[in-house]
Amino acid sequence: MRYTKQEIIKIADEEDVEFIRLQFTDLFGTLKNVAITRSQLEKALDNKCMFDGSSIEGFARIEESDMYLYPDLDTFEILPFRPHQGKVARLICDVYKTDGTPYESDPRYVLKKVLKEAEDMGYTFNVGPECEFFLFHTDDNGCPTTITHENASYFDLAPTDLGENARRDMVLNLEDLGFEIEASHHEVAPAQHEIDFKYDEALKTADNIMTFKLTVKTIAKRHGLYASFMPKPKYGVCGSGMHTNMSLFKEGKNIFADENDERGLSKEAYSFIAGIMEHMRSISAITNPIVNSYKRLVPGYEAPTYIAWSATNRSPLVRVPAARGVGTRVELRCPDCAANPYLTLAVCLAAGLDGIKRGLVPKESVQQDIYSMTSKERDEAGIENLPKNLYEAVKEMKKSSFVKDVLGKETFDKYVYAKESEWMEYTSQVTDWEINKYLDRI
Ligand code: ADP
Ligand code: MG
Ligand code: MG
Ligand code: MG
Ligand code: MG
Repeated sequence: MRYTKQEIIKIADEEDVEFIRLQFTDLFGTLKNVAITRSQLEKALDNKCMFDGSSIEGFARIEESDMYLYPDLDTFEILPFRPHQGKVARLICDVYKTDGTPYESDPRYVLKKVLKEAEDMGYTFNVGPECEFFLFHTDDNGCPTTITHENASYFDLAPTDLGENARRDMVLNLEDLGFEIEASHHEVAPAQHEIDFKYDEALKTADNIMTFKLTVKTIAKRHGLYASFMPKPKYGVCGSGMHTNMSLFKEGKNIFADENDERGLSKEAYSFIAGIMEHMRSISAITNPIVNSYKRLVPGYEAPTYIAWSATNRSPLVRVPAARGVGTRVELRCPDCAANPYLTLAVCLAAGLDGIKRGLVPKESVQQDIYSMTSKERDEAGIENLPKNLYEAVKEMKKSSFVKDVLGKETFDKYVYAKESEWMEYTSQVTDWEINKYLDRI
């Protein structure tokens, strides 16, 4: 444990902390918080802070709306981007019911359940995400647009890269929050960026992803820009993903590595890959949860569309980067930042563990570029598609008793219902594309 209650109180007083934000994440991945003043800190640390769960998306029904926030003491941080006098700190919280048991639809709890299963098997799950985002201009009212004046591409430098100062400031603030930043660079599309932070245990990483997005958005605003993690904000250029790098450690050692194997991978690594691939179609509604997610997963923009894996090329869904030893990992390339990170890591880990428990072996890896294969060649190689849209993804999820077990029935039902409604709402829209395409022709 990083801190005791007494230590947190002491730091708060020494650092002149005036406000403490108690944070949690709703079912659909939105960060929520309630700010309390220093005078309420003891009460909060005693798990006595309550809120109305019925007002939170995907949370409780009206009849059981009172919920408690139990702060995770390890997550105490002072927010560097808030005032330096009368500081603001945050605590990430678990959500509990009035009877003192964890709330089943708290995404953090869903992840913790799967992590417990991994722990019982002796595993620590390590995850490093690559979050991509756009920095757009805002309009005269301060609302986000998809406009950018820059034209830089992958790894370009200033002065083409207008986001450079913003990115520098983001990195410094993230470092103040305890992130170990490994790299930051301009991405392929104009105004698109990536900042990579070091992998950590999955719960920490999921918390980090939430903090990362808040920090990046806050600092972008300070630079007069709007940071968007929307998967495909612009037609015709690459979308933003969240490649998810995963490995299992046992007694401090990365067990995905095996020097005696031709590719340097262990039996567990192969089975983990096989488990992910087997469940991929049914977990897509979690890893790629919105209508727009599927506009990114189209050919030609560096995003995967087929369920295949490779240790040599970058196009497939699952890539095993060249690093071995402690860096041996499986990279899943479909998730995007619209995903709830807790649920995403929960279903990915559960799928991988299922592969290990059942001793699954993945299909042949693909050496060639899948996009240059004919559909007949793909069929012969048994390469399936990722779901083509949210409708197909939810349909797959609904059929999966595996996903239902991971989420728990109630959470599963709420999630499916919400995503079906989202799809219905979308399909009844008349889009600009249709007007442009048909209005003057028909
Ligand atoms: P890419 O080559 O795909 O662009 P990056 O270098 O941008 O990859 O990101 C790699 C990510 O993988 C980083 O977050 C890094 O910390 C993480 N990583 C490295 N080793 C491991 C590991 N053993 N398990 C999980 N993640 C890891
Ligand atoms: Mg990267
Ligand atoms: Mg890299
Ligand atoms: Mg990238
Ligand atoms: Mg990557």
